[in-house]
Amino acid sequence: MDENENAPRSDSRRSGNSPRRETAPKRSLGQNFLVDGRYAEAIVRRAELSEGDWVIEIGPGRGALTRRLLERGVQLLAVEKDAQLAAELAASLGGPPRLMVHEGDVLNMDVTSLLPADVIPIVVSNLPYNVSVPILFQLLRHRDRIARMILMFQKEVADRLAAEPDSREYGIPTVLAWLSCQIDTLFDVPPSAFRPRPKVISTVIRVTPFAEPRIPITDRLFFERMLNLLFQKRRKTLSRSLKMSGYALPSGVDPPIDLKRRVDTLDPRELVALSDWLRSATR
Ligand code: SAM
Repeated sequence: MDENENAPRSDSRRSGNSPRRETAPKRSLGQNFLVDGRYAEAIVRRAELSEGDWVIEIGPGRGALTRRLLERGVQLLAVEKDAQLAAELAASLGGPPRLMVHEGDVLNMDVTSLLPADVIPIVVSNLPYNVSVPILFQLLRHRDRIARMILMFQKEVADRLAAEPDSREYGIPTVLAWLSCQIDTLFDVPPSAFRPRPKVISTVIRVTPFAEPRIPITDRLFFERMLNLLFQKRRKTLSRSLKMSGYALPSGVDPPIDLKRRVDTLDPRELVALSDWLRSATR
């Protein structure tokens, strides 16, 4: 795609009696604004919206996606951490009933609780890269109130979320994401589509949450602690890394996994089986 088609005009290029200037993008808030309209359009199209749907946009920024979402006739809640951008957006795109702009940090709230209790929204976001994975897991905590999510990540992070066992990208985010949602990779977006340009390629994915985890886990906290301990030693055999991590092995029940394997060769089902087996030794 060519650069800048349909790109929002920069206020700093305006002439005449409209001297307002855009504030400089804040790196600390991951502000890489989408300026190529065709990618913004493609993201919104892949959300498969119908008029009247409820949508939550995380980090609307200068409104590249927000405008297009409103054009689809949806009801939109936009949650923005940057107070100035939140105020500018509300001023330029209007307020309720179709658009609610909420100034706040999505990491510290359940965004779905801002909507009526019977609403199951669709989430759309060009996520701030520096906190994209924590935001995903924060949203997945409330997944019973989310229909689907169309999210843009750095390509490297998107690859990690959708990775296969025994690959370099496979890790804790892969396992936790696999348990609670289906991830489909949709398309890549080049650095030229943003201002300022990021150094890396981005990828848009669709996340479809499951109401219940794909497989039951006896003790979720025990499981997550095990992942943290074992993935720190991903090159070691399980028997070695379990010993180094201080686990007592259950006696009388064979391990469900060959302990000569390494943790990063185990698929999520095998990891849950290992956790449940280790947990049985602590009872
Ligand atoms: N949606 C716009 C676009 O596509 O051009 C902006 C995307 S920009 C990559 C990320 C946006 O998320 C910024 O507007 C930033 O201020 C906002 N943001 C960063 N951290 C946030 C947080 N914790 N909660 C809510 N918004 C956040």
